[in-house]
Formats: sequence, structure tokens, C-alpha cells
Amino acid sequence: MASRRRKPDWLKMRPPAGQRFTDIKETLRDRNLHTVCEEANCPNLGECWSGRDGPGTATFMLMGDRCSRGCNFCDVQTGGMDALDPDEPENVADAVAEIGLDYVVLTSVDRDDLKDGGSAHFAQTIREIKDRDPSILVEVLIPDFQGNRRQVQRIIDAQPDVIAHNVETVERLQWPVRDRRANYEQSFSVLKQVKQESDIYTKTSLMLGLGEYDHEIYQTLSDLRQINVDIITLGQYLQPSLSHLDVFEYVHPDSFNTWERVAEEELGFLYCASGPMVRSSYKAGELFIDALLR
Ligand code: SF4
Ligand code: SF4
Repeated sequence: MASRRRKPDWLKMRPPAGQRFTDIKETLRDRNLHTVCEEANCPNLGECWSGRDGPGTATFMLMGDRCSRGCNFCDVQTGGMDALDPDEPENVADAVAEIGLDYVVLTSVDRDDLKDGGSAHFAQTIREIKDRDPSILVEVLIPDFQGNRRQVQRIIDAQPDVIAHNVETVERLQWPVRDRRANYEQSFSVLKQVKQESDIYTKTSLMLGLGEYDHEIYQTLSDLRQINVDIITLGQYLQPSLSHLDVFEYVHPDSFNTWERVAEEELGFLYCASGPMVRSSYKAGELFIDALLR
């Protein structure tokens, strides 16, 4: 592992632009909706929102922008969560139809403050989208619901196409990277349950550059395949502010390419998206459909 250096050139961002970008933004503002793409100033916005053959992928953030947890890598504010907006599921479905997205990612902050962790709200949003057009592919990036199987089951019963839950990092670094309420075992139990109870595709994501060793990355990928996780994404951890965890290393793009090969060719993931700028939902629609057609 190399020590921390100045940000390398391969992490330079390209600002999004164009009429489609402006139109989507207007639709979202009109409905008071938020996307992770914008809120996190995601470097992939131009690529994801435009797609390859037309409408692409966008990630909607449900249940507010304040989280009941505080992970040391994440820029979302902790505490002061809002009441749920009962119109949000319908508004998201309307926006998806209006924008003409063919692949939607729904995610949320963790809402440990809610009795059901927000699982019913999540499920309702999936149903609203599918009711309008069953051909729209829906991926949900869900919290661990504190290991509550009934809440995970509620998501499974709503029948999204992909259920993602992020392990974030290797086992040794779960703390200090994630909030103390999260851990490797609990995250694995969520992903395992989905496969035990359904044939829905499962997906997870790891950040690299936090001080993990190669053998730990390999072990994590192997552990994930043991429970039949289908899809993995690997991206560079970037420090949101000086009060967040330091970047330990800027991992070279060649290493990301190597991990992609290992994940797909050696370990048998359906697909692996791996690169410095890759985020959990990076071109999720295109890559998922390409993988199914392979
Ligand atoms: Fe949005 Fe995810 Fe693409 Fe970033 S990677 S632009 S958050 S869909
Ligand atoms: Fe951020 Fe998710 Fe952690 Fe909340 S649980 S602080 S949204 S990574």
C-alpha cells in the first residue's frame, strides 16, 4: 500500500452539461425530489443520466437528507431527521415516468428512528414505479434495517429487480469506516436473506484506498461469492472534508482493472464495475443489461 499523496490526474471531474441534464433537474425540482447524483456532486452524472441509447440511470434519495447514523466516510448529516413525506413514493414514480428513465436506483439514509426503518416507504415506492410501467428496472440500495429480517422481507416482497446493500469495506476496517451499528456480519445477513428468499439479483459495493490489503479485498470478494452476491462495484474512497477519514491511498486504475478481472473471471460475479470514479450505481442500467445479454 502506498501512502497518501496529492490527488492524481485520473480523479479529475468532468462537469455535466446539456439540455437533458437541465430538463431532468427541472423535473426533480418541481417535485421536490433529491438524487444522490446531484447531492453528492457525483462525477458520473453526465454518463449516467444520458445513458448509451437514451434514458439512463439516476439514483433517488428517499426519506430525507439526514441520517440516524454517522459513518466516518460519509458526508450526509447526522440527526434531525424529518417526518416521512407520504407523497414521496408517488412523486418519485411520476418523475421516473416523466424523465423516461429505464433503470432507477432508490436509496435512502438510514432511518433507525422509524419503527419499520422506512421499509414500507421503500416498498411503496418500488410498487408505484412498477405499477406505472413494469418494464422499468428498479434497483434498491437498502440499509441493514439493524438486521431485522421482517423489514428486509418487506423489500423482497415488493419485487425490485436488484437489491443492493453495501458492505463498504473489508471486515477489519468496518469500524472505524462505518457507524458502530453497522458491521460485516449484519450486512452479509441482509444479502444472504435476499438470495434465500427470492431470485432477485444482489449487489454490493466496496471503497478502496482506506488502508485495506489486497488479501483482504480478495477475502471479501470470496466471502460475497460464497453467499451468491451477483454484482460488485469497487471505487476509490474520497475524503468529503477534513473531518472525515483520511484517504490512505489513491489506488491506481490498473489495480481497479485487475480487481474487475478477478471478480468476473476468477470469482464469477455477473459483473464488476471497478474504477477510481465508480460508485455503487455507476451506469447501473447499462452494465446490468449488458451482463444479462452476455
Ligand atoms: Fe447518480 Fe450513481 Fe450515476 Fe453517480 S454513479 S451519477 S449517484 S446513478
Ligand atoms: Fe451515510 Fe449511509 Fe452511513 Fe448514513 S448510514 S452516514 S447515509 S453511509
